[in-house]
Amino acid sequence: MSTIMQQYIDEAEKALLHTYNRYQVVFEKGDGVSLYDLEGKRYLDFVSGIAVFALGYHNKEYDDALKEQIDKIIHTSNYYYNVPAIEAAKKLKEISGMDRVFFTNSGAEAIEGAIKTARKYAYLKDGRTDHGIIAMNHSFHGRTMGALSVTGNPHYREAFEPMIGNIRFAELNDFDSVLAQVSNRTCAILFETVQGEGGIYPATEEFLRKVRRLCDERDILLILDEIQCGMGRTGTMFAWQRFGVKPDVMTTAKALGCGVPVGAFLMTEKVGAHSLTAGDHGTTYGGNPLACAAVCKVIELFEKQKVLDHVNTVGAYLSERLDDVMEEFACVQAHRGVGLLQGLVFDRPVGDIITKAMEKGLVLINAGTDIIRFVPPLVITKEDVDAMIRILEESIREAL
Ligand SMILES: *Cc1c(COP(=O)(O)O)cnc(C)c1O
Repeated sequence: MSTIMQQYIDEAEKALLHTYNRYQVVFEKGDGVSLYDLEGKRYLDFVSGIAVFALGYHNKEYDDALKEQIDKIIHTSNYYYNVPAIEAAKKLKEISGMDRVFFTNSGAEAIEGAIKTARKYAYLKDGRTDHGIIAMNHSFHGRTMGALSVTGNPHYREAFEPMIGNIRFAELNDFDSVLAQVSNRTCAILFETVQGEGGIYPATEEFLRKVRRLCDERDILLILDEIQCGMGRTGTMFAWQRFGVKPDVMTTAKALGCGVPVGAFLMTEKVGAHSLTAGDHGTTYGGNPLACAAVCKVIELFEKQKVLDHVNTVGAYLSERLDDVMEEFACVQAHRGVGLLQGLVFDRPVGDIITKAMEKGLVLINAGTDIIRFVPPLVITKEDVDAMIRILEESIREAL
């Protein structure tokens, strides 16, 4: 490694709080589906900043739209109206079929908002303050206290107890386990339509339908977390649209701004009319003109570049090729996923394989210790998939 890169890494370890065991690389710039480190070495990017940079780096129209907005205004305040936020909310309504939008700065904040929405909705019905939420084991919803409280990974939660109250956990795709946790105090059932961090587990259509029916019968809000699996990654704009099982509240972030920090929680008109009102919730930055200019352009480019069609084609191809890898290597035990959100499950930790791939110019990421997760930019081509598979196979061979 060059001394300059090592120098920066050493400085980082003195200045930044050590909350990540980082790969030993400093990325300087990106172009399309490639990343470049400080030495100018090129990497094929199958992570896209963890499902964020859907359109690839330096999409010219995207860059131009942001530059144009910077020259106008970056930030005002939610006490005033701004055109990019209005346009972005309209577009988000169109692609989601939801009715009301609240913009946040991150995914975790979108979850916080969804939790507050559900509690307020239930509070307005019975005036009680002991409502509960059912979340799923192996889920991931973010690192703030509320989001952590509904994250089904005790290891992430333990040192930060006590969590917010009345959270119960069930098993994704096991409807009986949900029934076992439901009570007349339950105000929401929350899960990722496809679990990301927890191991790339897609919710089944049957599970979604049964939970939807239960929620309808008991006036419980169904909250779907689409932060990782949404924005086209599974081949529909949002993963639930594959089955047409619509949530009452939905969260989005990650690819929503394709790199500009922005998230949102959305709800139906019914929930909007009976939950948060003026004074209940707010944010200084959320939905600022720069972030919303990004959202507008991202949604526009998804349509213009026919990103969904592309994801369906390339996603199917990636899936076939990953099946081949599973056939070839006994250490690969399973292959799961939808579209361009896929995972290979190994019988051992995958850290060494990822490090080998990195040396060979391929950026991969894990989901848990034993799973390699594939979340490339949505504009990735079949040739890129082939190039990735070649390096992946070499890396597995060498790491065995
Ligand atoms: C990343 C992620 C979050 C948290 O988003 P942040 O922007 O990191 O706060 C929440 N839910 C899911 C499903 C995620 O993948």
